[in-house]
Amino acid sequence: MAGEPQPDCLFCKIIAGEVPATIVRESETTVAFRDINPQAPTHVLVIPRAHHRDAAALAEAEPQVVADILREAAAVAADEKIDATGYRVVFNTGPGAGQTVFHTHAHVLGGRGFEWPPG
Ligand code: 5GP
Ligand code: ZN
Repeated sequence: MAGEPQPDCLFCKIIAGEVPATIVRESETTVAFRDINPQAPTHVLVIPRAHHRDAAALAEAEPQVVADILREAAAVAADEKIDATGYRVVFNTGPGAGQTVFHTHAHVLGGRGFEWPPG
């Protein structure tokens, strides 16, 4: 069923505590933890507790949780003191855009400068 934990999903396992992660924030609907392969001094993933394959699927099923993710991303940025200098929030959507884990996640990146357009 949409939103239910998937036994083969890495991020569902992190939520369940079956795979360790450095969790930095939790809310009723979201969990935020450090990326295992950081691409910036701050690189945190904010994910919904519910399993959906990407941001588009989450927006269809539970639009209020998309807002929760963005609010938690802002809270992470404040906690990490990257809010004043600026930070990037990225939802890679689909393999062609670099998505490798098919459980919705926002990358929160900061602590360095960024190019535009992104690579
Ligand atoms: P995507 O490429 O799907 O946008 O992002 C997936 C992210 O998950 C990558 O940045 C990758 O480094 C991160 N990741 C993959 N496996 C693990 C893991 O076991 N633990 C943590 N904390 N991050 C992971
Ligand atoms: Zn999942």
